[in-house]
This record gives sequence, structure tokens and C-alpha cells, in this order.
Amino acid sequence: MRRVLLLATTTGYQTRAFGEAAERLGVDLVFATDRCNVLEDPWQDAALPIRFHHERASVETIARAALSRRIDGVLAVGDRPTIIAAAASEALGLPWHSSRAVTIARNKWLTRERLKEAGLLVPWFRSIDLAADPRDLLPLEFPCVVKPVGLSGSRGVMRVDDEPGLVAAFNRLRALMKAPDIRNERNDIHDRAVVEGFIEGREFALEGLMTAGRLRTLALFDKPDPLNGPFFEETIYVTPSSQSQSIRLAIADEVARAAEAIGLHHGPIHAECRVNHRGVFVLEVAARPIGGLCARALRFIARRAGRNAQPAGETAAPPQSMSFEELLLRHAIGQSVAAYAREPLASGVMMIPIPRRGVFRDVSGLDAARAVKAVVDLRITAKPEQALLPLPEASSYLGFIFARADEPGTVVNALRTAHDCLRFDIAPEVRMLQSVHG
Ligand code: ADP
Repeated sequence: MRRVLLLATTTGYQTRAFGEAAERLGVDLVFATDRCNVLEDPWQDAALPIRFHHERASVETIARAALSRRIDGVLAVGDRPTIIAAAASEALGLPWHSSRAVTIARNKWLTRERLKEAGLLVPWFRSIDLAADPRDLLPLEFPCVVKPVGLSGSRGVMRVDDEPGLVAAFNRLRALMKAPDIRNERNDIHDRAVVEGFIEGREFALEGLMTAGRLRTLALFDKPDPLNGPFFEETIYVTPSSQSQSIRLAIADEVARAAEAIGLHHGPIHAECRVNHRGVFVLEVAARPIGGLCARALRFIARRAGRNAQPAGETAAPPQSMSFEELLLRHAIGQSVAAYAREPLASGVMMIPIPRRGVFRDVSGLDAARAVKAVVDLRITAKPEQALLPLPEASSYLGFIFARADEPGTVVNALRTAHDCLRFDIAPEVRMLQSVHG
């Protein structure tokens, strides 16, 4: 039986989806997380307790476990586990992204440096200690973007239009970096910020799979809602892209160049880029697949019907359709997934934004939203009484809406219509405080 090591920070939807895919494939999944104390998944017995901030000890734990249970492939979900996933695959002699590459990919400043050295389009950028006075950077060209070097999910990313805005953004970022989850990482990456030119243009996300240094695009997503700041909350992702073939190819080419410049080599990647009259600006290439529930928007099928669809070396009939997680597991154990491509239908997801800070009470309009034509699923992930913190301080969503249709435009309309049906009851925080204090 083939065995895959899955490293993850959380034990949420995505790890369950990998668990189900592994079961279907007959692959044994060895789960490694530093949240073992809160693990409620079915493979608890097999979970390896590690500490993401203790890299060496974590890799030793994994290597020891691999002595009795041979590991054939590695996967990581979330940005943080990529560092240990790379070190573990090096220790086990398995193909994956290198430690050096994932260190660059996780660091927005190092990424900019590498992309610039490799001759890719980059905005002007400066790196600065968060404790320093940002006015030391003046004169600066506005608008610009202030961002923490080592966070993800647009957390702490702010557009700044003038000098007072720069000072305010730094104050806000310094306060954010005191959050317990960030401090607990004990990583000095969080002591620095990047300030860079604001790139006008449309934004895209590319989901790809690297095999021995070669990038294959699995899906190119359009982000139809403008992302102009001051904060950069993701909303709709839809694929296939409605852009011309030349733009789609240019994006794929630049992402491939960026991945090569960073040194990413083998495994999933998720890239973000902006495109304007100057060309394609790759914002980042993460050494991991798209996060959380969004992966449900991707479904794969055998490219050609009949016996040609059979990947070399497989005897069982290929499945009609397979999840993204199943595709990644197959790749991780060394199977060719060249015969599988994203389904022909357009597919999209809306990450339902948190409109304001407060306490989530309830949501109405779910039935009407689910009844919208082309909507295939709607999940509210916020829990009643959960404190909601919008960007830039926290990056989470109220839930996710999924739609599938013949055309991407139909998908986008369906997602927007469904979202319009929803009414969120979010109590102001002050009410919570009043109730707490009687
Ligand atoms: P993260 O890894 O936290 O997602 P990014 O650097 O990718 O951080 O930035 C998050 C979002 O902020 C991007 O998807 C984009 O919408 C916006 N953004 C970041 N940098 C710039 C920039 N230089 N110009 C314009 N928008 C930007």
C-alpha cells in the first residue's frame, strides 16, 4: 500500500477531503500536525505530533516514523507546513519543492528579490523593520502597498495613498503582529514588512502542479471583482478564465518563470498575479494547493474517453470524475495525472466576505440562495456567536458558495445572485461586551 505524509496546520475540511480521497484510492495517509491535541479526525492513531517551530525535531519524528512505515509521497496544506514538508522530503529522499525554494516562497521580500533577479516584472519594493519609522522610506511613490513579509491570505496587506496613511498602516500592522497566533510561530520573519508599488490591473490565480521542474496549469481563475484596496479581500474565483488565449498563455509562462526563479520543483503550487498594459506581474507563488473549501470548485476527468484515458501502469478503469485532492494524492505517489484535466464546465466559488467586525448570530435566505440556478453548494462556515474580524486583521470568511454552468459569466451571476439572497445578522461587539458584563 502506498503511503503519503500530509502536513497541515488545521484539521478542517481540506484534511478530511484528503482522507476521503485516500480511502477511495487505497492510499494510506500519515497525518502530521502540531494540533494533535485537538484532532478529531478518523486517523488519529496514525497522526504524528510535530511542532512547526521545531523544524529539526519535527523532521526527526517524521524520519523515525518512516523507518517502520515507508512514506512514498509528501503533501502540505497551508503555508506554514511547507517548510517542514520540504525538509522531510529531503530527509526521506522524496521529490518535492526544496527547503530553499519554500523559504523564498513564504517570504514576500525574498520572492520579490528572486523575481527581480530573474528579470520578471516586479513593482518597486523596499523591506523595512516593523519597529522602524516608515517615514525613513520617504520620499515614496504613492499609491503603494504595505504588507507583512510572512503572513498569507491578504492578512495585513494594505494600500496606502499618502504619508499619514503610511504611518497609520504601520501602526495597524504592528498591532496585528502582536496577535497570539503570529507570536506563537516564534519566527523573526514577522519582524519585517515590505512596502511596494501598487500594481493596477486585473487579478488572476493559477493552480498548478509541478513535476520535476515542469509546471502544468490545472486551472486559471479570473477574479472578477476589482481588488483595489484599501484591503484585499478575495471574493469570487471563476474558471476557465475569460481572457484571450494570449493573455492566458502569458500568465502561465510568467508563473512558470517565477516558479523556476524561486526554485519550486515538484508538487502543487498556487500563484497570484496582476495583469496590466505593462504585462504580467506575479505577486506570489505558494508551494501548496489552493486553500480550504475553495478546492471543491475543482473537479477533474479523464481527458479522452475510452482506453486512451488510462494512465500508464494502471489497470483499474479511471474514475468518471475525481476531486482535486485525489489528483494531488495520485501525483504525490508518483502516478502520472497527465490524462486528467479539469472538467469542461465553468466553475466558481465565492468566499463570502465578512462585511464588518462583530459577533455572528445568524443567516437567513439560505434556501433562496441555494435555489439560484447554477448554484451547486453553499456552506456557512462561521459558527453562531463567533467573533468576526475582517481584513486586514484576520482573514476568514462567513462561508462559501459554489456554482457550475456552461459559461463563466453565468457562474459569476449565480454567485452574486445567491449572495444577494443572504442576510447576515452580525451583532456589534459592544452588545457582546454588555451581555458578558451583565
Ligand atoms: P498574501 O500572501 O497574504 O495573499 P499578497 O502579497 O499575495 O499576500 O497580497 C494579497 C493581495 O493584495 C493580492 O492578491 C492583491 O490583491 C493585493 N496586492 C498585494 N500586493 C499588491 C501590489 N503590489 N499591487 C496591487 N495589489 C497588491
